[in-house]
Amino acid sequence: MTEIVKRPGFDQDSPPEPKLIDACVHCGFCLATCPSYRIIGKETDSPRGRIYLMDGIHQGQAELSPAIAGHFDSCLGCLACVTTCPSGVEYDKLIAAMRPQVNRQVPRPWLDTVFRKLLFSTLPYPRRLRPLMFPVWLYQKIGLQQLWHRFPKLEQLLPKPLRAMERLLPPLSQRSLGEDWPNLIPAQGKKRYRVGLILGCVQRVFLPEVNAATIRVLAANGCEIVLPTNQGCCAALPHHQGEEDQARQLARQMIDIYADMEVDAVIINASGCGHTLKDYGHLLENDPDYQDRAIAFAAKVKDVQEFLDDVGLVTPLSPLQDTPLSLVYQDACHMIHGQKITVQPRRLLRQIPGVQLREPIDAALCCGSAGIYNILQPDVAEELGKQKVKNLLQTQAQIIVSANVGCTVQIQRHLGDRPSKTPIYHPMQLLDLSIKGERLPAQS
Ligand code: SF4
Ligand code: SF4
Repeated sequence: MTEIVKRPGFDQDSPPEPKLIDACVHCGFCLATCPSYRIIGKETDSPRGRIYLMDGIHQGQAELSPAIAGHFDSCLGCLACVTTCPSGVEYDKLIAAMRPQVNRQVPRPWLDTVFRKLLFSTLPYPRRLRPLMFPVWLYQKIGLQQLWHRFPKLEQLLPKPLRAMERLLPPLSQRSLGEDWPNLIPAQGKKRYRVGLILGCVQRVFLPEVNAATIRVLAANGCEIVLPTNQGCCAALPHHQGEEDQARQLARQMIDIYADMEVDAVIINASGCGHTLKDYGHLLENDPDYQDRAIAFAAKVKDVQEFLDDVGLVTPLSPLQDTPLSLVYQDACHMIHGQKITVQPRRLLRQIPGVQLREPIDAALCCGSAGIYNILQPDVAEELGKQKVKNLLQTQAQIIVSANVGCTVQIQRHLGDRPSKTPIYHPMQLLDLSIKGERLPAQS
């Protein structure tokens, strides 16, 4: 039995700022776009409710107890409320300050603690994660995974986060187990730019083909690509869960690795990572040794779609099939709300001959992935995942396009429950095929 310790108030390590809390006029406009409120249905699991709770804790009228902490844990950090709020409340800063307070002050059940430790000590470190993937690859390869799914009653015996994690596993390839990139990839044709590429941690292992496609598309469009092979996680994974010490350490490492690279831009192809990389100045604002370097680094970060839309494609593009191709683009939260990138991916995709874009209802609603939220809060994530897939499929598009590894894995998992499987691609994979003059693989 976990000992429950209740402590009133915030500690003094960067608590949520009272002036940001006071900016909320409690109008409630944000409730309609909040995914946790939509699923849980309680004011305390809405942006306004959480701001009330922060204010209560700040005023000493509420205690940061495990029950109250649960209402902050249920927030997906999707930032839809930031987009919606007519008063400009900076909920992103409030929740970013709140999560470390929860982590420091509120004891979690032992299983949650073990799980979080396991996730944060493996997922952000590809060198640790890769060896663990070999048994997983084998488990998929010899059909044990399919067999296991035939016994749902046995599956129910697993703790919920473990069950969610197993269900989320994408099909692994040989490439997932290890892949070497040279430190420098030359531009094809005339060199236009010299760029760095963040390879990511989870993406490098779970969706390595996205990095491979990104490299080919950049090179084909005149970019020399610098690939520091010792790069690790960009810090997004721990940052989104309030593990600030680990996040700051990973951010410092990333800045050091790129210190002498002299690149025009640092490119990222996953939205959650891009949002954190652009926020390094804020993440390291209290670090006198890194503050200025963090701001300079963040100024160079560009999402790959933002970058290519900005500099323009210079390679000819071919159709991906003989008939028009309908696709639906899934707006990742940290792309649409976090980085305000919405038109650039669509403009790029429309350049592929024959592409017709369709828009789903509730396009700006989170799919439930939210970093590792779908492992830590599987019930809410499951419901959101089902709704997202239903909305995407209602467009009757032939393929789904997602520019975020977390969304891709979450959508794939829920597509997996359906008899006919709509394929899902990263925009770079489609551009890559189009540049190479190849057709989309036939679907079974
Ligand atoms: S966060 Fe903004 S939208 Fe939500 S209640 Fe406060 S002022 Fe209104
Ligand atoms: S970040 Fe998303 S889940 Fe959290 S309060 Fe805002 S809208 Fe709701």
